[in-house]
Amino acid sequence: MSPKEVLAYIRQREVLTVDLRFMDFPGVWQHFAIPSDALTEATFDDGIPFDGSSVLGWRAINEADLLVVPQPETALIDPFAARPTLTMICNIQDPITQQDYTRDPRNIALKADQYLRETGLADECRIAPELEFFVFDRVRFDQTANQAFYHVDSEEGSWNQGRDAVGNLGHKPRSQLGYFPCPPMDSQSDLRTEMAQIMSDCGIGTSAHFHEAATGGQGEIDLLPRPIVEAADHVMLARYIIRNVARQHGKSATFMPKPLYGENGSGLHSHLTFRVDGRSVMAGQGYAGLSELAMHAIGGLIRHAPALCAFGNPTTNSYKRLVEGFEAPTKLAYSRRNRNAIIRVPVHDPGPLGRRIEYRCPDSSANPYLLFAAMLLAAIDGIQTHADPGEPLDRDIYEIGPEELDDVRGTPRSLDAALDALAADHEFLLKGDVFTPDVIDTWIWYKRQHEVEAVRLRPHPFEFALYYDVG
Ligand code: GLU
Ligand code: MG
Ligand code: MG
Repeated sequence: MSPKEVLAYIRQREVLTVDLRFMDFPGVWQHFAIPSDALTEATFDDGIPFDGSSVLGWRAINEADLLVVPQPETALIDPFAARPTLTMICNIQDPITQQDYTRDPRNIALKADQYLRETGLADECRIAPELEFFVFDRVRFDQTANQAFYHVDSEEGSWNQGRDAVGNLGHKPRSQLGYFPCPPMDSQSDLRTEMAQIMSDCGIGTSAHFHEAATGGQGEIDLLPRPIVEAADHVMLARYIIRNVARQHGKSATFMPKPLYGENGSGLHSHLTFRVDGRSVMAGQGYAGLSELAMHAIGGLIRHAPALCAFGNPTTNSYKRLVEGFEAPTKLAYSRRNRNAIIRVPVHDPGPLGRRIEYRCPDSSANPYLLFAAMLLAAIDGIQTHADPGEPLDRDIYEIGPEELDDVRGTPRSLDAALDALAADHEFLLKGDVFTPDVIDTWIWYKRQHEVEAVRLRPHPFEFALYYDVG
């Protein structure tokens, strides 16, 4: 839609409120609403000022104002608002320089997309994300006390600080066997169908939905491939729909990477392809039908994987997922069959993307704009420097001897370690001025200050089990 068409649509649908959304730095969708008659054609150029100092990781109090600039092509009627409301995703601008704000994640993804075209390597990069999540009936957690406590219930059982499911297991998926018996075992099938249908109404194409392996109510909805900025917009809209449908049914959805000890976590596997004239240029005569370009892209993603984790696995909880035994990847390698490798090459079903690679490391605590931009830059760097991806890891890691396994580098074991990796390896992100040194420094500072240290300083519930009677 053009600005004129948006204004006509507002009149036609008798919309009284326009809801403006933007992505903050850590990765939470923010919004504020204006009366629809305050929106004019000029707003699409001039933007609307707001106080940026209260948004986490953005400006200091003495230079607070920023502008939101609505993007007309993202206009849509909010499926959850009680009264007709039009939403639009916005870019952020600096009112003094009139430049796009360098810490706006969407701006970073837009620049990455533009940089790809400047390199001449491909016309576009498409990403198809797989959203995994849990839907719980009730969650109780005490977030004010120093002693974190949580308790979750779902139709499939109850967990208290990670203990095993209790109660009647009739029609309930057993631990790690949720993938994927029919209802009534899958008690959330209708819920996911409703989510996927609302996504379709909002222009988000999905390819499948199903119950995932974990008990506790783990679902997955897979999105169709889109160019990276639209793919990230779709992830945010899809998360919004998943959370709100769950909420309307008196439940709550979470994208936290590892909410339950001893069960699979939730990933954000992201399928990636480069296209020229609408065709994948990842198809070729090499390993698993891949081209040389694809092998070098894999080489880049593997080389920079520890630094990428700082964006793709950006929470302390992310590293409770990246462990062996739960289908999450732990080895910096690629394979057509081994799910322990961070990159899988799906060989049988090229699907609508054409030949592609699946980057399995990220989880849904990621800010998708920063993640997709960083993935694209790692792949571009690999292609430009002819990075060697090494040998595929086609044997199950449980069959490989300890010495052989030692040679394969592993994923970082903590957010702190991933931030160290990013501090040491971020030149590839500065190409094309996509990420600025300020963005890298602010990210590392923000994550250490607000998350790594905040968690480290608090006694952990399990420390009570270990140490209450110690000494
Ligand atoms: N839930 C698993 C993960 O963390 C992935 C399961 C699958 O292969 O889809 O990453
Ligand atoms: Mg899955
Ligand atoms: Mg997958």
